[in-house]
Amino acid sequence: MKTINHWIGGKPSEGTSGRFGPVTNPATGEQTGQVALASVSDVDTAVATAKEAFASWRNASLAKRSQILFAYRELLHANRDEIATLLTSEHGKVHSDALGELARGLEVVEFACGIPHLVKGGYSEAASSAVDVYSLRQPLGVVAGITPFNFPAMVPLWMFPIAIACGNTFVLKPSEKDPSAALRVAELFGEAGLPAGVLNVVHGDATAVNALLDHSDVKAVSFVGSTPIAQHVYSRGTAAGKRVQALGGAKNHMIVLPDADMDLAADAAVSAAYGSAGERCMAVSVLVAVGAAGDELVPRITERIANLRIGPGDDPKSEMGPLITREHRDKVASYVDAGAAAGATVVVDGRELSVDGDGFFLGVSLIDNVTPEMSVYTDEIFGPVLSVVRVDSYDEAVGLINSNQWGNGAAIFTRDGGAARKFQNEVEAGMVGVNVPIPVPVSYYSFGGWKASLFGDSHAYGPEGVHFYTRGKVVTSRWPNPADRGIDLGFPQNR
Ligand code: NAD
Repeated sequence: MKTINHWIGGKPSEGTSGRFGPVTNPATGEQTGQVALASVSDVDTAVATAKEAFASWRNASLAKRSQILFAYRELLHANRDEIATLLTSEHGKVHSDALGELARGLEVVEFACGIPHLVKGGYSEAASSAVDVYSLRQPLGVVAGITPFNFPAMVPLWMFPIAIACGNTFVLKPSEKDPSAALRVAELFGEAGLPAGVLNVVHGDATAVNALLDHSDVKAVSFVGSTPIAQHVYSRGTAAGKRVQALGGAKNHMIVLPDADMDLAADAAVSAAYGSAGERCMAVSVLVAVGAAGDELVPRITERIANLRIGPGDDPKSEMGPLITREHRDKVASYVDAGAAAGATVVVDGRELSVDGDGFFLGVSLIDNVTPEMSVYTDEIFGPVLSVVRVDSYDEAVGLINSNQWGNGAAIFTRDGGAARKFQNEVEAGMVGVNVPIPVPVSYYSFGGWKASLFGDSHAYGPEGVHFYTRGKVVTSRWPNPADRGIDLGFPQNR
């Protein structure tokens, strides 16, 4: 059984806590490793190391930073199969999906390669007589990232490439459930030439997270995870005077209008609901069928589900793998029980699937006639369960989304451009898809939801990422002619 250590100052560190968490292969149910869980003093060591590295990294030239990022991009690409294999072995997602996750993380590294352009300031010559004004964006210092289990490589890559490109140093606290991919991705940055101490990884649980939130040398925190923890991180981090962006959970709705291409909509619903076993914050979990769309879609989705291949992620034939833990699998299954008990129609019952061995497999479920007070609708299930809510009108469909507590992604399927345009204007969600079920923005836009899906006002990566990891400074400079000297006690005015 392997031990997964912290990575501090460019080398592995066992830490001091003597506490470890289990790491399991969800496809077999076997424990394959143990991960060190950091103590407060381990976090102090990582932050102190990052603080020391900041003194020189903040002055590394933009050319040097982008050269390292370009080299990092190549290394990630060259090692993509190895990283995807790590992802599959601890998260469970199928290899092709793991490669897709990494590709979306790589996009952010590619964006960060353009850092010289991204932190350019403005310059105003002769703002006043002999006075020039210009703006700078400077790094904050040590910043921290706390990430969820469901994208063990991509979500860290949303954060540290941009933070580090901006001149900060970083402490990453990945999910303790599947920590190896994040660690490997961090090590590769070192192999690309990043100086030791600029990027550090501490593994752990609430102890490590709270130590980062309370540490006076941590200037900003990026968090991605569930809504209750996002709220905790936001309150505790901001109370300690930090910048915090905390991305939370989701319940993403896909509206299908009766004029939509029903085959395209059914393909999209199946892909977006069951890909990665529904453990995506942008998964579609509610299909809102307007008018006649419900009777068209439910049989089409049922037919497609029958052909899905569920099995271990390292089997190239599998399209969907297991869930992350046994407890989570059982919790997801209990929502199907609850839906049936509340009177919804279980059209396809994932509880019936059986896969050999002790893996955490659950088949996909399709539940029709779901109503908004049922727990299958109100809760984030985070598993392969798609609820169908039938409504009579477009207005009712949008009303449902807008009264939901979350607002991460929302999609509409229609052939009517006017309806799509009205939807993008009215819907209360941060990321909107038009005939696109999982509208994850490309890396040069930013990722973030509304309402309980995001605490703070800054979205992840893209231009908002650069803004979050830097602070502005404006320089007003004057090189006067000695002949113009004199004292003036009045408030400076422009002349
Ligand atoms: P989680 O909230 O349980 O864990 C996220 C991180 O918080 C982990 O690093 C974990 O160690 C830490 N943590 C857990 N409990 C804590 C506590 N009590 N105090 C302090 N820190 C704690 O989330 P998860 O189960 O790993 O991930 C799934 C959730 O993440 C889902 O709700 C999903 O929607 C959400 N998510 C959101 C986005 C987004 O962009 N909005 C992206 C991915 C995942």
